[in-house]
Amino acid sequence: MVLIVDDKPENIYSLEKLLKLHGFPVDSAASGEEALAKVLKNSYALIILDVQMPVMDGFEVAEAISGYSKARDIPIIFLSAISTEKKYITKGYSSGGVDYVTKPVDQEILLLKVKTFYKLYEQKKDLHDMQTILKAEIEYRKKAEAALKNTVSEFRSTLESLPQIAFTATQKGNLEFVNRHWLEYAASEKEFPVNHPSEKPLEARWKAGIQNCKPFDFETRIKQKDTGVFRFFLLKATPVYEANELTKWVATLTDIEERKQDERKKDEFISIASHELKTPLTSIKAYIQLLERIIHENSGKDVMQKYIERAQKQIEKLNMLVTDLLDISKIESGKLEYHKTTFNFNEMVNHAIDIIQQTNKDYHITKLNEVNVEVYGDESRIEQVVLNYLTNAVKYSPVNKNITVELRQESGNIQCRVSDSGIGIPSDKLKKVFEKYYRAEEASNRFQGLGIGLYICSEIIEGHKGFCAVESEEGKGSTFYFTLPVKNEL
Ligand code: ADP
Repeated sequence: MVLIVDDKPENIYSLEKLLKLHGFPVDSAASGEEALAKVLKNSYALIILDVQMPVMDGFEVAEAISGYSKARDIPIIFLSAISTEKKYITKGYSSGGVDYVTKPVDQEILLLKVKTFYKLYEQKKDLHDMQTILKAEIEYRKKAEAALKNTVSEFRSTLESLPQIAFTATQKGNLEFVNRHWLEYAASEKEFPVNHPSEKPLEARWKAGIQNCKPFDFETRIKQKDTGVFRFFLLKATPVYEANELTKWVATLTDIEERKQDERKKDEFISIASHELKTPLTSIKAYIQLLERIIHENSGKDVMQKYIERAQKQIEKLNMLVTDLLDISKIESGKLEYHKTTFNFNEMVNHAIDIIQQTNKDYHITKLNEVNVEVYGDESRIEQVVLNYLTNAVKYSPVNKNITVELRQESGNIQCRVSDSGIGIPSDKLKKVFEKYYRAEEASNRFQGLGIGLYICSEIIEGHKGFCAVESEEGKGSTFYFTLPVKNEL
């Protein structure tokens, strides 16, 4: 808007008419004071200022305007009857655009000047608006960048805190960020860990994996830098999409070595178990065939009796194997239940000794002492432990056939010790014999077994708040024992 300041209404009228005719919005003030008040209130693109006015002349008005920060840049065209030097005019008003038109006003010239100033004003305004927009844009980008930086660093510290190896890669699969576990396996942050020579190099497998732009995983064996040992890892990768475009990859490598070893042990176990089950079955089949032949040939009762007994022994063996397998699965699913009652510990041990002595007449089982204690627990399960200790003592002592059983009472506990003079166990293997599927090398080479009996024993004893242990010397013999809390010492 153009502000016309003149004390003569007729001048204002003719100028207003001229400018409006050319499409300029116009406002007017009849004195310097009114002009100053309007300048403060509104915003103008140009002021046309009459110099000769009463009270406050045009120069004084211009000088006052130059003091207002809001208005000091508004261009002014002075109208004066006398020719005034430009230098003088600009004295009080140095920063805004200034021009000068003498009266009587040449309308053509005035219009030209108004047009020029107006255009200038508009361009300046556009420039200013543009600048404001740009500033806001820069500010916004700065904030967004800072927020992004925050998110990235938060994300990286999350990856850093993972127990697994974790890394991110660019859309093309090039490494971007790796957490500290990476360096336990890789030579540097830029290189992939070395994997087993039987596989394609890890980087090649990774690059092949990302081709489909979908989540993927694979198992790999990578080399631990410190030990040089290869361990099984599961690599899991997820693509990150932004606005439907794949921007990066996030991946983890989880150590699955133990799971793999368990799987291996389980496979091995299944093969041993099938073998163990097959052996007595084959014997039973053979005895039945023999019996059939004997019936056919009408041979004597004695021979039949012998084969039936043998077949029964094999059936009992099968039964024990299957019972052990069932116990393992009950333990695994937490369904091993105990039917606890109070029973006489001494009598239970004697009963177990009787059973083993009956079936192994060539062995000599000595009970060293008698005690009179009562235990609260599942009698048949605890007897199962004693039977297992005795069966092992017989099995692993093929030469020296003397076995002793000792009961020790000490501070509220009863200890049952079964000693043999058999093959013994190397000291570094002692701790492992109670583990599931474990069999010492010597034992597994020479004797049949599944490596689950002692594991079941320790589960049963721990289920009664006791513990199992072993003392042994390789080649000399072993003492297996367990300790249980006593209910009443009589
Ligand atoms: P299994 O006898 O079927 O192998 P166990 O769980 O009963 O399974 O025993 C685990 C391992 O402990 C055996 O393979 C053997 O190496 C060792 N072991 C157990 N009892 C004895 C023993 N009396 N003398 C020597 N080694 C034994």
